[in-house]
Amino acid sequence: MIADPYLGKYTTCVSARSTDKEILQKAQDGGIVTTLMVYALEQGIIDGAIVAGKGDRPWQPRPFVAMSREDLLKARGTKYNISPQISLLKEATRSFGLDKVGVTGVCCQMQAVRKAQLYPINMRDVPDKIALAVGLFCMENFPYKSMQTIVEDHAGQSLSSVKKMEIGKGKFWVYTERGNVVTLPLKVTHKYEQPGCHVCLDYVSNLGDISTGSVGSPDGWSTVFIRTKVGNDVWSKAVAEGIFETKPIEEVKPGLELVTKLAKEKIDKNRKTVEERKTFGINKALQNPYT
Ligand code: FAD
Ligand code: SF4
Repeated sequence: MIADPYLGKYTTCVSARSTDKEILQKAQDGGIVTTLMVYALEQGIIDGAIVAGKGDRPWQPRPFVAMSREDLLKARGTKYNISPQISLLKEATRSFGLDKVGVTGVCCQMQAVRKAQLYPINMRDVPDKIALAVGLFCMENFPYKSMQTIVEDHAGQSLSSVKKMEIGKGKFWVYTERGNVVTLPLKVTHKYEQPGCHVCLDYVSNLGDISTGSVGSPDGWSTVFIRTKVGNDVWSKAVAEGIFETKPIEEVKPGLELVTKLAKEKIDKNRKTVEERKTFGINKALQNPYT
């Protein structure tokens, strides 16, 4: 087991891509999340998964419990605004009656899953029913209105015409159905980030059974950390069955060095913000005025 101060604990890190052509057509990167959940469902490792599906407005996610391959495919692709996955955790075990729940989500949502398992206040049925948690890397997220402003005002595209959004290589990328590609420097998008992200101290979903993101791997591939026994069992079986193609992370560019650099930048910067926030406002107000 490797324990890195910025990348968390993991047993293996590889660059990987799904071998399922249909999943890859609309996957964000290497289709790792959807393929893993489809595989886990077909193998009986999970009996459903909480994923970010389509909401009421274009590119607004809404979490739902996917119980088939078809459902899981509907959640492919990254939506750069908040999908409250954890709101369905209890629901998945109660209303949907799942005994083996799969969960997808960003780093803070993986933390919430583990908290629900450790301190199951109002989550009585949940702890022993989390069967597979697949976390996403996450530098930042945006409120819906902010994402709308970025795409419509800064990139000049209507949200309903957008095929894919991506943050990478120092830019925010907007791809439209008609083939336009607009890039914005991240200095334009920074001010729209949700403030809570500025005190977030995890970049690579340290608490997932498996975590994945695009950074570190070539386009169309994903960087994958295998972190727990649960993660290792499902991953090694899937790889042995040819569900994924993999390359050692040391053999790809830009590799783990870039993942570590970005994780360090995020965490070091946000630690400073945490320290700064301790010195203003709320803490003082909470101090007993009579002492
Ligand atoms: P797919 O097979 O396409 O499946 C996508 C999965 O993501 C779905 O199961 C869906 O449930 C889930 N999902 C989509 N949107 C959301 C959402 N808003 N909240 C919760 N779950 C969601 N990767 C990096 O390398 N660096 C980053 O800085 C980075 N930042 C990210 C910020 C956000 C807000 C999100 C949601 C993702 C970010 N990622 C980042 C992860 C990356 O964009 C891909 O989601 C990841 O590589 C998985 O790709 P895939 O092809 O395996 O997933
Ligand atoms: Fe959650 Fe952190 Fe991503 Fe913000 S940066 S959405 S707090 S994981």
